[in-house]
Amino acid sequence: MSIKENLNQINQSIPEHVTLVAVSKTKPVVDLQEAYDAGIRDFGENKIQEMCDKYEVLPKDIRWHMIGHVQTNKVKYMAPFVHLIHGVDSLKLLKEINKQAEKNNRVIDVLLQVFIADEETKFGLDTEELNEILSNEIQNLPNIKVVGLMGMATFTEDENQIRSEFKTLKQLFDHHQPNHPELKIISMGMSGDYQIAIEEGSTMVRIGSSIFGHRNYTI
Ligand SMILES: *Cc1c(COP(=O)(O)O)cnc(C)c1O
Repeated sequence: MSIKENLNQINQSIPEHVTLVAVSKTKPVVDLQEAYDAGIRDFGENKIQEMCDKYEVLPKDIRWHMIGHVQTNKVKYMAPFVHLIHGVDSLKLLKEINKQAEKNNRVIDVLLQVFIADEETKFGLDTEELNEILSNEIQNLPNIKVVGLMGMATFTEDENQIRSEFKTLKQLFDHHQPNHPELKIISMGMSGDYQIAIEEGSTMVRIGSSIFGHRNYTI
């Protein structure tokens, strides 16, 4: 199936209030252009250099989402244009984003990544760190707006486990949202689990291989 056909199918299974971020990492610019022509404006990348290269050549009304783990020393390259940084999981990174946002005279929207999985490899804040950042630390970071939370479920076939991990993120969101009305987004769900994520309250899904096909990391 073509990218356009894949997108049609996915769009039909996503409710209106859920934003689809097309995860285009490793994919060539022609593939992104095809998705763009089919109406997609939100693209997700996980490497800053690759995102900057694609930003240069593609239409300027694209909203670029940084979904990967961010190295502090590279924030400056995306600071002028990035739309939303999903994977923010340390105060050090928040401070650097704030600094670079200030240099560019803008406020950068971020999501705090929360650790919800039962795996050692996934990045993210624990509940206490999340608390600390939301209740204290963001007050000193005027060029950052925390607009939501992001999480990744364990890579497993066990649907119950995935569901309960997404529930955890939704509960954390509901716990903090009343005191932080700027929290609007729950970014959870990928190709394999986005339907469960939406059932559990996701408002933003990050879908790659179901749109663009499998990634080939060897090239
Ligand atoms: C690659 C990636 C995705 C998309 O994964 P697919 O399984 O291809 O849909 C979503 N979120 C993050 C953080 C990713 O790195």
